[in-house]
Amino acid sequence: MRPFNFEKVKSAAEASAMKSAVSQYIAGGTNLVDLMKKNIAQPEKLIDITTALSDTIEDQNTGLKIGAMASNRKVADDKAVIEKFPLISKAILAGASPQIRNMASTAGNLLQRTRCPYFYDITTPCNKRKPNSGCSAIGGANRMSAVAGYNEQCVAVHPSDFCIALAALDATVTAQTKDHKEIKIPFTDFHKLPENTPWLDNNLPQDAIITHIEIPANAFSRHSAYVKLRDRTSYAFALVSVAAALNLDGKRIKDARLASGGVAHKPWRWFEAEKFLQGKRATEEAFEEAARLAVKDLKPLSENGYKIPMLQGAMITALKNSMNQ
Ligand SMILES: Cc1cc2nc3c(=O)[nH]c(=O)nc-3n(C[C@H](O)[C@H](O)[C@H](O)COP(=O)(O)OP(=O)(O)OC[C@H]3O[C@@H](n4cnc5c(N)ncnc54)[C@H](O)[C@@H]3O)c2cc1C
Ligand code: SF4
Repeated sequence: MRPFNFEKVKSAAEASAMKSAVSQYIAGGTNLVDLMKKNIAQPEKLIDITTALSDTIEDQNTGLKIGAMASNRKVADDKAVIEKFPLISKAILAGASPQIRNMASTAGNLLQRTRCPYFYDITTPCNKRKPNSGCSAIGGANRMSAVAGYNEQCVAVHPSDFCIALAALDATVTAQTKDHKEIKIPFTDFHKLPENTPWLDNNLPQDAIITHIEIPANAFSRHSAYVKLRDRTSYAFALVSVAAALNLDGKRIKDARLASGGVAHKPWRWFEAEKFLQGKRATEEAFEEAARLAVKDLKPLSENGYKIPMLQGAMITALKNSMNQ
């Protein structure tokens, strides 16, 4: 690890005034410090924002407002989250470990980097780590890689669980730019596909600081489930995950949400399957058809064809589990 300066700030304005091309914010540090130890991130200065941003969770009439510094543990254990947005709590609890969830912040979770093994191995080409150096995963070990939305520049997947629930529930990210403007980014536009800039994971302006996220009030609290399939049952990232939420009128589906992790460079919404489910009766046959529609155009790489049936099964299970609450 290289030497660096460290400064603690007391407000978002102070933090963004200090931000430059060679400095980085640090919240819980659970991702950034690992990246610094491996010389993947090499900031000259760390700006400690732990006392600069809110960690409160506000249950408002319009929905939920979560401060950027609210820990993953605090969000998962919050009474209003459990009662009104249980999908969020389920997704967070499927991730990491109690110790990491204690340290991990809400904003940090959104901005964690991919777990592609080549990204962490500085002896190999990786467009995300070193622009235009090539992608080692495409012709290499790609069993963890994407089956949707990728291109020849990068086949990495987004690693978060929390973000999959936020994508399903149409959250919004609020940030403050260096010139003190507040910007709001719909969650489904927050993370990006590789395009021709695979080194960028999201559409947050480089100098912006996330202040909070908002989740609109919804009618999914009674029927939601998160299914995560992974190599170990704890302390492992998703091979595939599915967040499912249904708004039911009796047995009829008024509205459905389906999102996945471990599938693409960003949290992936299955819009066609959601549309198919709308107005249908909530039966196993409908769930099976929705899952079939979702996976029909996916294109696996050399080592990750197993993800397609796995994903299909996880979708059906998540939809069925959402009925059994
Ligand atoms: C062993 C291990 C297992 C894990 N397993 C899982 C898992 O199964 N599922 C899962 O979802 N996650 C998992 N994680 C990831 C973990 O959830 C993230 O590391 C954590 O959420 C990051 O939050 P942090 O506050 O520690 O971020 P930091 O490491 O402090 O920061 C991460 C990035 O966010 C930036 N940042 C932080 N706050 C702001 C802000 N307010 N505005 C702008 N930029 C900001 C930082 O500059 C940095 O670039 C795991 C991590 C580890 C180490
Ligand atoms: S998939 Fe992306 S992160 Fe992995 S080696 Fe290729 S460019 Fe790097």
